[in-house]
Amino acid sequence: KAKNAGRNQFAVFTREMFAQAQHRLHLSRDIRHALEDGDFRVVYQPIIDIRDLSMIGVEALLRWEHSDGYAVPPQEFIRVAEETGIIGRLGQFALDRALSDMAHWKSLSADLPWLAVNVSGAQIHEAGFAEQLSVLLHQHRIEPEQLHLEITEEVLIENLARNRRMLHKLDEIGMRIVVDDFGVGYSSLSYLKNFPISVVKIDRGFVRDIVSDPEDQAITRTICSLAGDLGMQTVAEGVETDEQLALLASYRCSFAQGFLFSRPAEADDIAEMIAGSLPWREESAG
Ligand code: C2E
Ligand code: MG
Ligand code: MG
Ligand code: MG
Repeated sequence: KAKNAGRNQFAVFTREMFAQAQHRLHLSRDIRHALEDGDFRVVYQPIIDIRDLSMIGVEALLRWEHSDGYAVPPQEFIRVAEETGIIGRLGQFALDRALSDMAHWKSLSADLPWLAVNVSGAQIHEAGFAEQLSVLLHQHRIEPEQLHLEITEEVLIENLARNRRMLHKLDEIGMRIVVDDFGVGYSSLSYLKNFPISVVKIDRGFVRDIVSDPEDQAITRTICSLAGDLGMQTVAEGVETDEQLALLASYRCSFAQGFLFSRPAEADDIAEMIAGSLPWREESAG
């Protein structure tokens, strides 16, 4: 009897794995088609200077509405794209679109100091990544210093020497390296000194309960002060309330990003925000 149950469990397990693999394969095929059909979009979320509440830059975020009407969460399609080797093309699309929107904003009005784009570990090691980026920057007449490449902590841990070489190469071109979702992985701040990091982005998980949780307060305060001492700037993700913002200001966090200021917005809306005709934060308009 136990033997039978075991066999059945095994059968269920493999069927589930098969279904998962098939789902992944379908999604991967759909990503390819969506890229060809121009179904991917890029939206932008403002990043705010905490000292004067001015908009210092934006983060580019991919969006995909599947042809069956379902908005696929970025985390899901990014993971599948990484696993199936299409992240290079998808990431290149995001970079290309974001840089051309940046060039367009520049042609309309004031220049935005920063453009942050997320890049995957697999993507930065695609042949010619740094060279292609240099060409894109040149084409769009954007200074390398304006481009902030957001990488996650894991990228720093895995394949240390190879990643360090690549990050130094990108840093030498002038681009800024940002560590995204900091604090959820394994690295410590002192470990970051091995890499050319300009900005540390504090994970939303620490900001969420910062007003009520003394541990999250201690962690965030420590990240802000140590990063500052190491010559790095800090961005707090997922800022949703004035109380969170006030605490972050008291910790001397440099920048903030979150629904308090704006949800990710279309490129045209960002152009209006830069021009100042659209209050990106209602309370600050009065
Ligand atoms: P991320 O880089 O950490 O981006 C921040 C995420 O937090 C975004 O989710 C954003 O919409 C969300 N967010 C911002 N403010 C708030 C807030 O106040 N409250 C809450 N609850 N959420 C907030 P999104 O757009 O779903 O993206 C998820 C992740 O997908 C990103 O996390 C990033 O890791 C990845 N991703 C998105 N676009 C790209 C891309 O072009 N390339 C790569 N490699 N990854 C991307
Ligand atoms: Mg990011
Ligand atoms: Mg993040
Ligand atoms: Mg995140």
